[in-house]
Amino acid sequence: MNDTFKHKGLRKKLAEEIKAKGISNPDVLKAIETIPRHLFLDSSFLEFAYQDKPFPIGAGQTISQPYTVAFQSQLLNIKKGEKILEVGTGSGYQACVLVELGAKVFTIERQKSLYQKTKVFLPSIGYNPKMFYGDGYAGLPAFAPFDKVIVTAGAPFIPEKLILQLKVGGILVIPVGENDTQTMITILKTSETEYIKTEHGSFRFVPLLEDKT
Ligand code: SAH
Repeated sequence: MNDTFKHKGLRKKLAEEIKAKGISNPDVLKAIETIPRHLFLDSSFLEFAYQDKPFPIGAGQTISQPYTVAFQSQLLNIKKGEKILEVGTGSGYQACVLVELGAKVFTIERQKSLYQKTKVFLPSIGYNPKMFYGDGYAGLPAFAPFDKVIVTAGAPFIPEKLILQLKVGGILVIPVGENDTQTMITILKTSETEYIKTEHGSFRFVPLLEDKT
């Protein structure tokens, strides 16, 4: 694995930059400092790996901006050993952050080419979340309930099935909006039938697509 002192130095700076932008969870910052993000990008984009920006990862998709990854991870408030569902595996970077936070990660991707690439890539750098090819709107009923659920694509609405697959006391983090920008929303499930919805500002994601598997 090509991970040099230069890469490590750039990551430390990136973590500091994200901290300055308001991320305070030390475990999240440590995960950003640990994971070799440059390996998740095509080699032609290497010089961009440690800028706080999203980047193309093929199949018309993007690896989220590190700040956004950190922001969603902080909202999840993960405790070691929690079972987490991620919708939108993409490059697998967010899944690795969740693994670094001590979670048991289940992640689902609907683009077959990305699923296949990431399924080989993550174990090759030592990360082993459980990866699935399928439609995130359906979640993973066979493995539910989850302590937390994170959606990393912009959803036109909150998929009911994802709330159903949350434990009581669990949190869903999801960017919701039909257009270019979405509102980051958390759903705290307070009973089998009730939840508290909170908004956390505007973000930009690629869309969560329906009926394409
Ligand atoms: N978490 C990713 C970000 C990927 S971008 C990372 O860290 O790199 C969002 C991803 O959601 C894309 O890979 C896209 O293919 C996927 N996606 C879109 N609609 C989906 C759906 N219905 N089910 C599962 N994945 C979906």
